[in-house]
Amino acid sequence: MHKSQSPSLTSSPDVLIVGAGPAGLSMACALADAGIRSCVLEAAPLASLAAPAEDGREIALTHQGIAILKALGQWDEIPAEEKAPLRQAHVFNGQGEPGAQSFLGFDAQGSGGDLLGQLVANHWLRQVAYQGALRRGELIEIRAGQRVAGLSLGETQASVTLDSGETLSAPLAVAADSRFSATRRAAGIGAQMRDFGRSVLLCRLQHSQPNQGIALECFHYGHTLALLPLNGDRSSLVLTIAADQASEMMAWDEARFLAWVRIQVNGRLGDLSLAGPRHLYPLVATYAHRFATQRLALVGDAAVGMHPVTAHGYNFGLYSVELLARILDQAKKKGQDLGDAAVLQHYAAEHRRRTWTIYQGTNAVVRLFTDDRPAARLLRRGVIQAAQHLPPLKAAITAQLTGRRPGFLRQLQALRADLGR
Ligand SMILES: Cc1cc2nc3c(=O)[nH]c(=O)nc-3n(C[C@H](O)[C@H](O)[C@H](O)COP(=O)(O)OP(=O)(O)OC[C@H]3O[C@@H](n4cnc5c(N)ncnc54)[C@H](O)[C@@H]3O)c2cc1C
Repeated sequence: MHKSQSPSLTSSPDVLIVGAGPAGLSMACALADAGIRSCVLEAAPLASLAAPAEDGREIALTHQGIAILKALGQWDEIPAEEKAPLRQAHVFNGQGEPGAQSFLGFDAQGSGGDLLGQLVANHWLRQVAYQGALRRGELIEIRAGQRVAGLSLGETQASVTLDSGETLSAPLAVAADSRFSATRRAAGIGAQMRDFGRSVLLCRLQHSQPNQGIALECFHYGHTLALLPLNGDRSSLVLTIAADQASEMMAWDEARFLAWVRIQVNGRLGDLSLAGPRHLYPLVATYAHRFATQRLALVGDAAVGMHPVTAHGYNFGLYSVELLARILDQAKKKGQDLGDAAVLQHYAAEHRRRTWTIYQGTNAVVRLFTDDRPAARLLRRGVIQAAQHLPPLKAAITAQLTGRRPGFLRQLQALRADLGR
């Protein structure tokens, strides 16, 4: 039996955080490490934070994302067997017609390590974020089962009104309430939204052959299928397909579903069986028009809700948390007002700089690789071949996948030089 909240703070919070997803809880942890008190407000019951249910998502974390989790003390709390190494990614384009399939392979060579990243189930990330917040209980109050229903951004305070009618105030509010953030909307901040009309169907597969830490991404015609390598001869199947077809497939019995998957996977990984329930997510990407305004900042998916194909979503969430905490820490040391628009503007500008190109690039890749018209099919093949034969372009993509940003600029310069030859 869980109470609906952790012990109250002894003094009023500096920051109100709306949403106790992994981004909101990690935000509270990072602020606590800078000596900043927060109160986290969550609509869901405390039991779902304390023991998050498995939700089918396997999150590919970049080196930079992992470094932030380490700094927050969360990484070492995840059992070693729950971290699956991602050594290589093999991208296949097309299917069916002879000679129509093209291939692009990535590994971590030249990126300063032997892994592209590591995969961790989302419920583990949520669990360690919650445990991290509990450990910092003197500076963090969690109030679960309390939906935020209203927001008011005043001259000196941000105030939120709960469903119960209670109002709470602090110099700053942080919205971490998902890509469909109601807090963002209540502040009058719009978002670019792209509904792909598709859904992602996820489930775990057991297989007879080892996956060797290789992710397979197959851009078939009509759908894309990815197999993400997990430990113990298991992989996560990630199927992106038209929303109506996905709902239909959810209703198929296991035998029918597995028979369809076997055909698509085409003998890779040997014998297959289902190793868990199927989960379905609608595919909508969002990008807030602004990441901050006077007394409010947006983090996690509330700022940038990515299409999962390039696996950046929670990594971006962690980057936003680390950046905002660092800026607020500096502001606190200088005695500045944490909710001042000028302070928050530094965060907004830097987070936009880090994410905008990748957000647009990801959507462009999705558009191209889900367009099955003949001209697009040709272009898809051309893009894959160009990337395969242009090492600097491949290295630049790898730098993005691993989150090793300093090398990225060098790689781009090398690419420019290569193209100039
Ligand atoms: C299929 C799939 C695969 C993915 N794969 C990857 C990957 O490989 N790599 C990667 O980095 N990312 C990946 N992601 C993205 C990642 O899962 C998200 O970026 C991350 O979970 C977002 O965390 P968040 O805390 O911002 O939001 P959420 O997890 O959505 O949490 C928001 C919280 O706010 C609460 N809330 C909402 N409204 C209110 C309110 N009014 N009052 C109080 N509380 C409220 C909700 O109950 C919820 O707990 C994937 C996503 C999907 C769907």
